[in-house]
Parts: sequence; structure tokens; C-alpha cells
Amino acid sequence: MPCEVNTRFVILYGSQKGQAQSIAEGIAVEAEDHGLVAELSCLNQSEKYNLEKEKAPVVFIVSTTGDGEPPDNALQFVKGIKKKTLSTDHYKHLCYALLALGDTNYANFCNCGKTIERRLQALGAKQFYVTGYADDGVGLEVVVDPWLEGLWKAIKGALSKMASDKVDPLKGPVGDSPKQDPDSLLPDVELNLLSLNDHQNYTHKDGGAPHVPLAASLTCSLPPLSQSSLNVPALPPPYLHVSLQDVDSREQTVGHLNNENVHEVPIERAIQLTTGDLVKTSLLLELDTSAYPTMTYLPGDSFDVFCPNRATEVEDMLCRLGLQDKKHHQVHVSLNKDTKKKGAQVPSYIPPSISLLYLLTWCLEIRTVPKKAFLRALVEHTGDTVQRRRLQELCSKQGATEYNQYVRDPGLSILEVLTAFPSCSPPLCLLIEHLPKLQPRPYSAASSCLKHPGKLHFVFNVVEFSACSGRPVGRRGLCTGWLFDLINPGKPKCSGSHALPKIHVSLRPKCSFRLPSDLSVPFVMVGPGTGVAPFIGFLQQREKERQDNPEAVFGETWLFFGCRYRDRDYLFREELEGFVTSGVLDHLKVSFSRDELEMEGNEVTTSVARPRYVQHNLLLHRQQITEILLKKNGCLYVCGDAKNMAKDVNDTLIEIIKTQLQVDQLEAMKTLAGLREEKRYLQDIWG
Ligand code: FAD
Repeated sequence: MPCEVNTRFVILYGSQKGQAQSIAEGIAVEAEDHGLVAELSCLNQSEKYNLEKEKAPVVFIVSTTGDGEPPDNALQFVKGIKKKTLSTDHYKHLCYALLALGDTNYANFCNCGKTIERRLQALGAKQFYVTGYADDGVGLEVVVDPWLEGLWKAIKGALSKMASDKVDPLKGPVGDSPKQDPDSLLPDVELNLLSLNDHQNYTHKDGGAPHVPLAASLTCSLPPLSQSSLNVPALPPPYLHVSLQDVDSREQTVGHLNNENVHEVPIERAIQLTTGDLVKTSLLLELDTSAYPTMTYLPGDSFDVFCPNRATEVEDMLCRLGLQDKKHHQVHVSLNKDTKKKGAQVPSYIPPSISLLYLLTWCLEIRTVPKKAFLRALVEHTGDTVQRRRLQELCSKQGATEYNQYVRDPGLSILEVLTAFPSCSPPLCLLIEHLPKLQPRPYSAASSCLKHPGKLHFVFNVVEFSACSGRPVGRRGLCTGWLFDLINPGKPKCSGSHALPKIHVSLRPKCSFRLPSDLSVPFVMVGPGTGVAPFIGFLQQREKERQDNPEAVFGETWLFFGCRYRDRDYLFREELEGFVTSGVLDHLKVSFSRDELEMEGNEVTTSVARPRYVQHNLLLHRQQITEILLKKNGCLYVCGDAKNMAKDVNDTLIEIIKTQLQVDQLEAMKTLAGLREEKRYLQDIWG
């Protein structure tokens, strides 16, 4: 009996920063080339899909945010799918594939994807393609690219299996695990091969021997890449229509920031906490929040700072677009009706009736590191063939390492890329299509309202990007560089006279990084560098609580702090030592990573006898830590750098549990996971 193969499948995404969404959209676009029809929805658009009745294959693309939480637009879905009342055959008709995005620098890698997968399986759904776990810590594309390549064959396999199962009801359920069907994992991608003959990039104008550059760089490649055929991604379909109207919109200031949760508050004080060379510049800012009595926070909370793009970079961007004389014109953005992009929408973060200047200053992240799809789109607007070829290389499969080396790892901005490729002149609408929303930057409160009513303190390091290929001169981080310029620490301040400017801030949703509510619970704080910020708030709060409850029994407190040099970047030294003197802090353990090295004439020593980092001090006090965590029901808090410190501390804690409890690695990991579950091992980390 002939069987008709359906071509329809469903894509559902949950996305916090747009990466999962853009992958999902890419699949929807590419589906057509494979003769398939994709129905794309965000997980929170429950009116657009119905998993209870869905018979077509479903592809989930979901990211994970924060401490393993689902993205905001997947919260409801995850809550629903976790309901205990659902029967084990609730989704037995469903066959799915899942791509989970995460970052191994953070706890609970790909937790949202894993949760969805666990529940789908528990509810009887069948997997038709192996699950991908992509790690932003090493580059999502390492997993995403091959996963996408194999997806098409898997979808087609699932569709034809469904068709034949319909014909032959005696056959088993749809969608065998890819483990049983290794063919379904084989890549089946239409190779978009570029022929080298199209390019004369390394051929002399006179047609002589190819000129091979001495060293590869952002703009130059060497063989074999320069001579390789390339697989480049499909061109992302344009979807926006943008026009500029000659209406002077100069009156626009920061209108869209004036909503009820965003407050403009004066910087009351700015203090540089570090001195000397070879240390990052750390600054403490005190904000006066007294005009907004509802802006109450607890130690452990964080808040967002809204910063604009740098005026000079906005001007440079206007120049590149050839639109300097139109910067006060009003921007109108609408959907291109003929677009092939599935689920295309005008970005919600572009308010109506704004000027071009405002758009580039407050709405778009013009420092964004261009993704490969963006580079691919730029090729179409690049005149010079050598530059075109190099952009093609950087977005190609063969050029993945060079993309990481020259674009991703140094954090090259789109403006830096455009400067390096002068013949590239993208239209404004392309930038709006590819640049994400300019995100506010979160900071942890470094004070307690009890000690500083009407004030909010925070501490930050001024981020420095060093010069590299494509960036002739180093630059500062966007927000920290902006704050640094605002307060201009070189100049004397007239304190209290509001000589310092105002900034826009908004408290972030309440979190679980809180002091134990029971005063008698002992706790350990691990916060090197600016990671000490929330613990200053904790200790200020504790100080007040001790004054207000002289009879109460207080749990023991430990702080592990670390910095480079005792006399240069030991943040809050006086305040911390004061807490020890007053008995608020029982144990202050500080490690200096560079002090002794200096005394040894800069000779690098690998000896770990001297506690150089916080984790070394933790090891030295393993017995007390184990006792607090495992015998006294205490808590351990970690705050600061996600990339190295948080991982090292985590590994050290596993090591401590292993040796103290005499258990194996797996058991120790389970014990730590249990503490995390009970919210007694809490992290507030950033990278
Ligand atoms: P950006 O211009 O956004 O650049 C920073 C980005 O570039 C980061 O992704 C980083 O990985 C990357 N990067 C940094 N240096 C380089 C380099 N040399 N080369 C390539 N890439 C690089 N920060 C604090 O200082 N104090 C806090 O209390 C604090 N609390 C936070 C709380 C939370 C909940 C979160 C999520 C973050 C917190 N941060 C804190 C981090 C803060 O939000 C900003 O990310 C940080 O200040 C940098 O912002 P920026 O705009 O100056 O840098």
C-alpha cells in the first residue's frame, strides 16, 4: 500500500537572550529547502500549538538561564509539564527532538532542556533524534552545527516512519531512539560549496603567483583555509522594512526607561577601592535612592544599571551607515510582508517614534559580537572580493577556529568588524535585524538598607578589553567604562553636593541568595574580588541584627576573600577587619595570589602550601566547613567570577566532602547537589 509522507513538523523554543530563538528560526527557514513545512512557536504561545494532540515531530530548542532556571518565556510550559497529575502515557503519541543550550561555567548545565526531556520521557513521548547539549562556555556551534546537520534526516525519518506506521498498524510506536538507528544521526546537509575560482583574493592583480600573507589575522587567512572550499550558512532572510522620516525627534531623551520600575537616582559618592598597578580598578558607588521609598532591597539582591552605548561609537556607526546628517530623523520599523523568515516580528525593544540617534544609543547592543549568521549577511554588502572571501571564511564551517580566535574570544564588536572590513556597508535594517537589545547590566547590592537607609551601594571592576587583531586600541567594558567616565575618578569630588550625575536603575526580581532567616544557622561566604559585594551587605545586616537582638544566639560566620596584593586590591579591608573586631564575623580568611610571587622576584612557583586562592584556604579549613555544612545544617555562599573561581570552589568542595566523609567522587557530587537542592549551597556568579 503506498504511504503518503507528511511534511509538517513543529518547532518550539524557549529563549532568554535570543540564541535559542534564532536557532529555531534558522531551522524554520531552512525547512523549506528540505521540502518540509515548519510551524514555529515560542513555548509561551500556547494558543499556537497543542502538544496534547500533536502527531507531527516536535523539535524543542531551549536555553537555560540563571541558576538552572528556564527562560522567562518557557516558565509556564515547564511548570505545566511538571504537574504530578499527568499520566505516564500523556504524551505517548508525541515524538520529539531536543537541543538544549547552556553554559558549563554555571551550575546546572542545560537544566531546562534536561527537565523538559525528563518529563517528556516520563510522560511517554518518544525521542526521534539524539539530544544535543550545547555549551556556550566553549562555543555553542561545537554541538549546534553537527546537531542541525543531522536533524533533517532525522525529521524525514520520523515523518516516513509515522506514515508507514499509519499504513501498518502492527508496527511499533513512532520514533525509535537514535541509538537504535544510527543512520538518523548521519548529516544530510545540502552543502553550500563555494568555489575558490569565484575569488581572486590571494592572486596578484597581474595574475601572478598567489600572494600568501605571513600571518593570519582577522582580515587575512593562510592556507589551507584560504584555499579551501567553504560551507557557509544559508543567508538569513531579511524581514524588516526601515525608513527614516524627516521629523526632528531631538526631544527624545530616555523616554522608554521611564517606566514604573526604572528609577533615575543620583550617584552620591564614588570611591576607588584599589590602588597601584597590576590590579583591576574596583570602584564603589553609593546611589541615593531616598526619593523612591519602594526601592527596598535585601542583601543578596541585585539590580540593573541601564547604560547607553558610547557616543563616539554611535557617531562612528552613523558614519559607517552614511547617516550622520539623519541622526535626528524618526525611525519607522515595520515587518517586510514578503519575508521568508518564520515568526518574524518587529523587535519589541524598539519603541515607536524614536530618533535614529536614540535607537543606536539606547536600544541596540552595538558592541555585540557578530554571530556567524550576521557575518554571512554582511558578505552581501561587501564590495571588495578579498574582504568578501574573508567574511565567508569566518562564518564557514572550515573557518570555525578562526571565527573563535579572531571574533568570539576577543569579543570583537560589530563596529570593530566593520572597521576592519571597510568595503562592507550594511544597510540600517540589517543592523536592526541582527543586533540584540541593549541589555542593562546587573550588579549585586553591597550594602544593607538597615545600615544605610535610602542608599544602595555597589562595587564593580572596570572591564578592560586589550588590543588585538581587529582592535588596534584596547577599550573598556560598556557599562563599567561608562560609569568610570561618569565619575571620572581622577578629579576631586565635592561630596554631598550632587555634583555626580544620575543613572537609571531597576531592582531585579527577588532571589534566593539570602541570609538564613534563622539567626543561629552558621554560614560560610566565599567571595574573592568584587564577589565580596553581597557579603558586605550580609555582614552589615548581621551587625544591625546583633544590635537589635542582644540576647539571640548567632551562628558562626566565615568569609573567604581573595585578591592579588594586600596593599592594592584588598577591598573593604577596614570594614572587614572591623566586623571581626565587633564579633560579627568570626573567621576572615584572606588569600593573596601575587604577594609572595613579587617577593620571590616574579618567579612563578607552583607550590600550593601557601593559600593563594580562596579554594586553597577552603581546603585548609575543610574540617570546619564540613562540620558547618553537614553536621550543623549551615549554608555556603559563593559569589563572583563564574569562569574560574566558582568552578574551582565547586571542585574543592567535592574534594573536601570526599576526604572528610571518605566517599567516592559520585557520592560527594550527590551530597553537594543535595545541598544545592536544599538551598544551602548558593551561588551568585557572573562571567
Ligand atoms: P561588557 O562591555 O558587557 O563586556 C563584558 C563581557 O565581555 C563579558 O561577557 C565578558 O565575558 C567579556 N569580556 C570581559 N573582558 C574581556 C576581554 N578582555 N576580552 C574578551 N571578552 C571579555 N559585576 C561586578 O563588577 N560587580 C557586581 O556586583 C556584579 N554583580 C552581578 C550580578 C549578577 C546577577 C550578574 C548577572 C552580573 C553581575 N556582574 C557584576 C557583572 C556585570 O553585570 C557586568 O557584566 C560587568 O560589569 C561588565 O559589564 P560591561 O558592560 O562593562 O562589560
